[in-house]
Amino acid sequence: MNMKKLISMLLISACVFSMAACGSKDQGDKEDADKEEKQTLIMATNAEFPPYEFHEGDDIVGIDAEMAAAVAEELGMDFQIEDMAFASIIPAVDSGKADIGVAGMTVTEDRLQNVNFSDTYATATQVVIVKEGSAIAGPDDLTGKKVGVQLGTTGDIYASDIKDAQVEQYNKGFEAVQALTQEKIDAVVIDGEPAKEFVRDAEGLKILDEAFTEEEYAIAIAKDNEELLEKINGALAALKESGKLDEIVAKYIKSDAE
Ligand code: GLN
Repeated sequence: MNMKKLISMLLISACVFSMAACGSKDQGDKEDADKEEKQTLIMATNAEFPPYEFHEGDDIVGIDAEMAAAVAEELGMDFQIEDMAFASIIPAVDSGKADIGVAGMTVTEDRLQNVNFSDTYATATQVVIVKEGSAIAGPDDLTGKKVGVQLGTTGDIYASDIKDAQVEQYNKGFEAVQALTQEKIDAVVIDGEPAKEFVRDAEGLKILDEAFTEEEYAIAIAKDNEELLEKINGALAALKESGKLDEIVAKYIKSDAE
């Protein structure tokens, strides 16, 4: 038998074998298989938002990642993270590509048109980052300035209300901060916790004392999935009650004392 023939025979037998394997799983006792195979809770996020979600080697870690994994565990489900652009998260949840959107996502009236939100799990702020020595001392001084934001975030939405400001949108919050370091823009409006991380890792930047807004983070769920909404709220309540959520937060947010 020549080599070509041998290979094609092997390929055919591999296909036949795998078809049989699939067939038996499909046609066999499907209910049993469903019981054995755990359902997977798929989380959509944008892993550019430390300490809530960020890359650590090949993993995506952070408060949201661990909290959602703990929610999945409470629900007896497997867990998987899909990393995407922030602006793609709500469409992914809405279309069913992902079950939940967890991305330090602020509850807003606009977003509530497209998704449901769980009970909130964190209070957050939008802050202003400037260069040390900047004349900008508070949010009111942003009038007429070049303000960097992360595209599609609440920072982006609020910055567009600043009088005469020129809003520069970046895909990642980190890129906005980089542009500020390079003096391409005058300030960045972004969530408080990632701001602390970005400023700590950069040279010559500071966060203004006066925050821009107060907001709340929650988990986004498809509007037609009321059942999952209730399950998620139940799991969140259990994690709050047991102290597990606080434990996760404390792991990633060190107290401000330096
Ligand atoms: N909290 C902001 C928002 O919901 C930013 C979230 C993010 O960049 N991951 O728009």
